Amino acid sequence: MPSSPPSPSASSPAQHPAVAALLRRARALGADPRNTNYAGGNASAKGEVADPVTGQPVELLWVKGSGGDLGTLTEQGLAVLRLDRLRALTSTYPGVEREDEMVPAFDYCLHGKGGAAPSIDTAMHGLLDAAHVDHLHPDSGIALACAADGERLTRECFGDAVVWVPWRRPGFQLGLDIAAVKETNPQAVGVVLGGHGITAWGATSEECERNSLWMIRTAEEFLVRRGKAEPFGPLLGDGYRPLPEAERRARAAALAPVLRGLVSSVTSPTGDAERHRPPGGLAGHFTDAEPVLDFLARAEHPRLAALGTSCPDHFLRTKVRPLVLDLPATAPLEEVTARLRELHAAYREEYAAYYARYATADSPPMRGADPAIVLVPGVGMFSFGKDKQTARVAGEFYLNAVNVMRGAEAVSSYAPIEESEKFRIEYWELEEAKLRRMPRPKPLAGRIALVTGAASGIGRAIARRLSAEGACVVVADRNGADAAAVAEELGGPDQAVAVTVDVTDEEQIETAFAAASLAFGGVDLVVNNAGISLSKPLLETTAADWDLQHDIMARGSFLVSREAARLMRTQALGGDIVHIASKNAVFAGPNNIAYAATKADQAHQVRLLAAELGEYGIRVNGVNPDGVVRGSGIFASGWGAQRAAVYGVEEEKLGEFYAQRTLLKREVLPEHVAAAVFALTGGDLTHTTGLHVPVDAGVAAAFLR
Ligand SMILES: [Zn+2]
Repeated sequence: MPSSPPSPSASSPAQHPAVAALLRRARALGADPRNTNYAGGNASAKGEVADPVTGQPVELLWVKGSGGDLGTLTEQGLAVLRLDRLRALTSTYPGVEREDEMVPAFDYCLHGKGGAAPSIDTAMHGLLDAAHVDHLHPDSGIALACAADGERLTRECFGDAVVWVPWRRPGFQLGLDIAAVKETNPQAVGVVLGGHGITAWGATSEECERNSLWMIRTAEEFLVRRGKAEPFGPLLGDGYRPLPEAERRARAAALAPVLRGLVSSVTSPTGDAERHRPPGGLAGHFTDAEPVLDFLARAEHPRLAALGTSCPDHFLRTKVRPLVLDLPATAPLEEVTARLRELHAAYREEYAAYYARYATADSPPMRGADPAIVLVPGVGMFSFGKDKQTARVAGEFYLNAVNVMRGAEAVSSYAPIEESEKFRIEYWELEEAKLRRMPRPKPLAGRIALVTGAASGIGRAIARRLSAEGACVVVADRNGADAAAVAEELGGPDQAVAVTVDVTDEEQIETAFAAASLAFGGVDLVVNNAGISLSKPLLETTAADWDLQHDIMARGSFLVSREAARLMRTQALGGDIVHIASKNAVFAGPNNIAYAATKADQAHQVRLLAAELGEYGIRVNGVNPDGVVRGSGIFASGWGAQRAAVYGVEEEKLGEFYAQRTLLKREVLPEHVAAAVFALTGGDLTHTTGLHVPVDAGVAAAFLR
């Protein structure tokens, strides 16, 4: 028995110095996108602790686990393994054909509870005889790794300090290969992994970081020094140059819903329902970053794009290759749309053929044949994913791939890994297992909602609920600053964007929908919530009172729905329109002529639009709230005081007053209205249109009949 308790142990709160150094290094490296792509690469440290069971010293490996990003790595993101056991796996390793069996074996090497799940790169870190190891995906390093004569260029760039390791799928064998390289090249500080990235090491964390950065910067300088002037070839004709910004954005906004509709198609050519596909469609991202526009303006872009991406991290997100429009930016929109439809059909056929070429009996089923990246010369890049973050990151990875192609073409020719190898990774059982472990998508994942009057009250509650259920939300409001605050509260640009819109203004509505298309790819759930209210007796109601309320609620709902239907028909994914009407659309109360009449107008629009838009799969429903006092923008603006006066109660007691006259004796809150919107759109009422849902705690006089 040891005489004193072992320390530091895994359960001890004190952080091991090697872990502290590793986390500091990982965050520093991950913070600079030149060093590695988002969530790409991993880093590790080795160190000694006292085994809490025996008190004897034991060597551990701390390595970034599966998932997560280096730039924000925490101790919880580290897998912790016993080095002696991990290295002992070499004695039972059955050979490269069965190397995948080593991944479940990692679980038998964990120290304590083991921390995060060990990634496929764990073997590389553990088998390498160095205290600190970085594996990174820098664009400059991958450019050398994907150059046709990468081995020679690596030697010219780094001398004998860096060794070339030919392409091999990440795994146990690659770890053995790299460990052997270090063994036989004691002068080496790192390796270039063909087709993939770099790995560097050091005896201390500082030395390892220095070696990683030296490799990355040296490769960058080499590509500049040795590279030719126009790696992507000469500029194509004027039609391929970037359109002026306003025109470019307008064209992108027009194309986004067309593309989103195409890539969100739900059936594969083989007729199987595609998995991992949210009900609404895919979320979209658009960028007109200069490197993308330059790539698309030059002669070599069709050849290079067809070669596809190379780093496994890249093509798992970007698909093996993008769809590229082969028309100039100056082509008419109708011609472009028609051509995109043809190219999309061809893409799906080619993807299915790629699957058929390489699939074996035990391959997972095809995951969907649609492109993740669509390139439009003169306009920019559209990317798609199950949610906005996935779509954005796919676009960022293709930008990484453009940088890789430019570097490789500058000094050699771009030669990504073989298509068969890409398939082995894309449909790898380990990749499939990762997908299976992913949580079920939320009910509104992939859906894009636009809510008017969403900066406060009921609209804000609806925006919050739809966002919580997975939708991307466009927070539309006349008050731009408050709308921006709500969008920020919902989580920022991957979750929500704000648009300033007065729903009485046709042009502003058009602009708001265009902004939605640019931000998320389109719209498929629109909530007409914007409203105001003035409670006055007939003789005191001015024509201006009448017009204002009708302009905002009746005319506003009509204009917003018209633009929504236009966009939804372009997308061809169906959609939902919800009108927030009122109990007053049915119930005739005193002193309420203008408000209640405009609510009745809105309510009948629900039925009229449901009848007209059904054939496009667009469902139109309404919610009839009543007595929402707390948190309601309308009540705060004076309506509450007016209604309180009408009923002869104190304004603070109005909620209670309304509650007492209901059948359920309950006060109605904005969240209850939001819940009705979700019930109508969340996927359970797929066969319901033209319906009004009362959210009034029970008012018999407002029963629908
Ligand atoms: Zn890698």
